[in-house]
Amino acid sequence: MSPSLSRLILSVVFLASVFLVLFISAMIGIEVLDLREIEVTSLILLMTSMYLILGWLVIWRGAVKWTPWRRGAIVISVLACLLLASMLGGVVQLVMDEESVTMFVIGAAWALLWLASTAIIWRETKAERIARLKMLGINVVVCPNCSYNLTGMTSTTCPECGSKYTLDQLYATLAKTDEQIDQV
Ligand SMILES: [Zn+2]
Repeated sequence: MSPSLSRLILSVVFLASVFLVLFISAMIGIEVLDLREIEVTSLILLMTSMYLILGWLVIWRGAVKWTPWRRGAIVISVLACLLLASMLGGVVQLVMDEESVTMFVIGAAWALLWLASTAIIWRETKAERIARLKMLGINVVVCPNCSYNLTGMTSTTCPECGSKYTLDQLYATLAKTDEQIDQV
């Protein structure tokens, strides 16, 4: 199994386990600490969001090329997604006027936005992908249009975006990838 597939399976299991943490924190808030409804909701949001952030980072950090930009962006994304989710929560509060519902909407919206933003922030650039493949000793032929890796292909049509090339066009891209690696 490739590390990427392993991470994907772990991610699915992990995201399902978030509901377990949600349930356990609700039980702790209600049964053990005997908190008020709004306090229980706050406890649930705090515990599940911490669990989500830490677990997600543990699973994916090894797959991310950490640049100063990515480190900064991932911290900012936690807060930016909270701001967006709070705006949505504000609308829900106006309509429903129910604090617990509002807080759950904020929590769920934040989680979805943040998970999506990590996928965008952590995604490697074309140059990074080419450099990584070069490091593995692969002579990389990539689609000039979408940079799909064409290594091992028996046809010159890109299976990802459908662009058609001639052999000499693809051969010419090899010289270009060397230029791109110089820019990394
Ligand atoms: Zn393509």
